[in-house]
Amino acid sequence: MTVIRDQRHMVGPYELTTVEEVWAAWEAICADPNFPGFPNRNNERNLLQALVEWERPTARVDWSRWVADCTNPDCRGAMACWRSHANAACLDCGYYFSVIFPTPQLSLIAIRILELRPEVNRCWDPRQQDAKDLIRENIQNGFPIPGAVREAIVANDIPRRTR
Ligand SMILES: [Zn+2]
Repeated sequence: MTVIRDQRHMVGPYELTTVEEVWAAWEAICADPNFPGFPNRNNERNLLQALVEWERPTARVDWSRWVADCTNPDCRGAMACWRSHANAACLDCGYYFSVIFPTPQLSLIAIRILELRPEVNRCWDPRQQDAKDLIRENIQNGFPIPGAVREAIVANDIPRRTR
């Protein structure tokens, strides 16, 4: 079972399996005659690469989904992300970005903690919270960490970092 959903589960009506399918789904959205265009770019319909002066977005977990915030200063929409795909597209402004993900090791630990919570409470911003912060939140909110999981986390003493 998927603990944290990602781009594969969030772009278009079907679950996707490859990067090529994600791009095809984005292109299908843009080509749909009922698509009104990107609201934060004058309803234009073509997907463009993000401008170099914009910050690279960092992936975070929100309501059990990998997302990132669009860094186009005129937009700030939310984007679906996937670790296996460097790019995330903002369907509010029509730019796509190269996304920074937390390391796989840190993400696995975070997900082990988050999966003990209901989906709505599975939120993590790796720029602001390390594994210890997530453990503390679990305890404070009544989602205790089983001893074995906690020992593994403490043994690794994972610092806050992204790659
Ligand atoms: Zn945007």
